[in-house]
Amino acid sequence: MTTVTKNVKISDVGLHSGLPVNMVIKPSKKPGIFFKRVDIKDSELIPATFDNVKETMFRSTQIGNPKGAHVRTIEHLMAVLFILGIDSAIIEIDGPEVPILGGGAFEFYNLLERFVSDRTKMKKIVVKKTIEARRADLLREMPFWKRIRMMILNYTLGRHGDGYERLSPAYDKGLQIDCIIDYNNKAVGTQYYSFEFDGSKASVKDFVDNIAKSRTFGTYAEWDMLKRHGMALGSTMHNLIVLNERQDAVINKLYYPDEFVRHKIIDALGDMFTSGGFIHGRLESYKGSHELNNYVLRKLFSDSSNYEIIEAKGEKK
Ligand SMILES: [Zn+2]
Repeated sequence: MTTVTKNVKISDVGLHSGLPVNMVIKPSKKPGIFFKRVDIKDSELIPATFDNVKETMFRSTQIGNPKGAHVRTIEHLMAVLFILGIDSAIIEIDGPEVPILGGGAFEFYNLLERFVSDRTKMKKIVVKKTIEARRADLLREMPFWKRIRMMILNYTLGRHGDGYERLSPAYDKGLQIDCIIDYNNKAVGTQYYSFEFDGSKASVKDFVDNIAKSRTFGTYAEWDMLKRHGMALGSTMHNLIVLNERQDAVINKLYYPDEFVRHKIIDALGDMFTSGGFIHGRLESYKGSHELNNYVLRKLFSDSSNYEIIEAKGEKK
């Protein structure tokens, strides 16, 4: 197991709530990443696992426990914990949302990388069969009210029902993620990015240099809608890429021309870590999303012949 060597405190506003939030990542002897809402009385630990994901609609991943305590936008922090090999920590938080910081993973990485305990290898989850998760199937399986909400949201955001994700055994050195995004607006259009992570120092550096800073984006229409629902209140030009009214240009400066698709890699890494281990396989994501990331994991774990778990047994990294 690998944890943090001391309490690491991180404070900022939440992207959706816009309210200040304080988070303390604490060393732990218990395997797994757990959140704890310290602002709620008797709040139980919330395991950051795919089967506790409650909501993924508004471009963030939210986990919760049966008593109703929840934490949202965990994915960028989860991506960094994964990249650093931290598979054991208790994360105390005094609000419902992880601090947004720069909108990507870079700040989390900088704040945490000096405080990683002696590393041991992470539990491996080896993909044995090809798993496909299609948006159309996801919609079909949803309860009626949720499906209607999703359809309205897709219409508002200009998303189409043809997205899919595929997990396959095609890569055995670690996790390979191939992302394609395709948006109607000219500023984003079609973008492709591939990232291979094998746990080596070189692949950590690749993540930090080429992916970590990437932010998500919003169009005016979308952010207007989110704000009317009391969300995205903490979004600024610093932590979010904003497209202009005609959606043919970006208002703020981009870190990379294809920052949009690179951010999808962060989201996918963070979401794949809700598997509780290091997935060995290839994830192809075509118009992927937090919903599909979660769906592909639920499908993977629905049948034990789809995967093999190799425990680390204290092996050094
Ligand atoms: Zn994200």
